[in-house]
Amino acid sequence: MTDARAIDELRTRFQTDLASASTSRDLQTVRDRYLGRKGGAIAGLMKQVASAAPADRPTLGRLANELKRDIDQALRERRTAAGADRPSADAIDVTLPGRGAAPGRRHPLTALREQIETIFARMGFTVLEGPEVEDEYHNFEALNMPADHPARDMQDTLYLADPLAAETASGPHDHPRTLLRTHTSGMQIRHMETHAPPVRIIAPGRVYRRDNLDVTHTPMFHQVEGLLVGEGVTMADLKGTLEAFLRELFDPDTKVMFRPSFFPYTEPSAEVFIGCLFCDGKGCGVCKKTGWLEILGSGMVHAAVFEAVGYDPERYTGWAFGLGIERVAMLKYRVDDIRLFYENDLRFLEQFPA
Ligand SMILES: [Zn+2]
Repeated sequence: MTDARAIDELRTRFQTDLASASTSRDLQTVRDRYLGRKGGAIAGLMKQVASAAPADRPTLGRLANELKRDIDQALRERRTAAGADRPSADAIDVTLPGRGAAPGRRHPLTALREQIETIFARMGFTVLEGPEVEDEYHNFEALNMPADHPARDMQDTLYLADPLAAETASGPHDHPRTLLRTHTSGMQIRHMETHAPPVRIIAPGRVYRRDNLDVTHTPMFHQVEGLLVGEGVTMADLKGTLEAFLRELFDPDTKVMFRPSFFPYTEPSAEVFIGCLFCDGKGCGVCKKTGWLEILGSGMVHAAVFEAVGYDPERYTGWAFGLGIERVAMLKYRVDDIRLFYENDLRFLEQFPA
């Protein structure tokens, strides 16, 4: 049996229970107690209404439905107010698998530099590092590029602020200036100044040019310098070593071509090309229809460079090369915008072998 007063009492009991519920779990318990399909207080009330006297049923039915609606609404409001739709501390599901920690990885340029170092280390080369702030002597003069040498115009140099500039504001500089090195070739000089032949080194590192940022240029990029000096060293040694290096770096079937070129610190000089990786030598947009991609510069060390470091050019010969790590990375991984390497976007970086 039920009547309107019993429904009022149920409402009061619900309000008391709701007031004492503090966690989302408490709220769920209250919901089950009142709105549960089996054993819930409202379900029980509805059964009683169904068995009430026919004359009382419409009124009792209306009151019971109002109570049901009010309970449901009150519970929803409390859940929203408590932010209980979000997982809370008392709702941790300990059966869920944990989140794995994302392991760190090397930057693709670092990984590539280390691969290049490994290839040359196996061939007996020592890996050197040197200063990024260089003086004009090691960056230019000793490499057969005196102050008036036109080759200095080939590289737009970032000079450091000169503390003596005010005293020498006009006229040529009569003291050495410092600069951000424009190439790693200065390491040839620094090493030969302090070591007698034979020499077998590579020197990877950052270099700087006054370039505007675009798809193929950045004001800072990475080079690897290589130098081998001894008695009886010939251009055949240069060719064999670089072919072995490029075939290991790219592919055992890589075609390699040497073409005469000019650099102030090597004579003769050669630009080195590999068969286009994109069109198999047939000619495409990347290789400008030539079937070849320029990959590095090289040559036999100029006698003037040996004289600058006190080596006897009659007794010793040697070869040197320089390559850009970004350029190799762009060709090897088919990246068409150099800026992507510096944006630290994980979606880009995660595509490379670590
Ligand atoms: Zn091509």
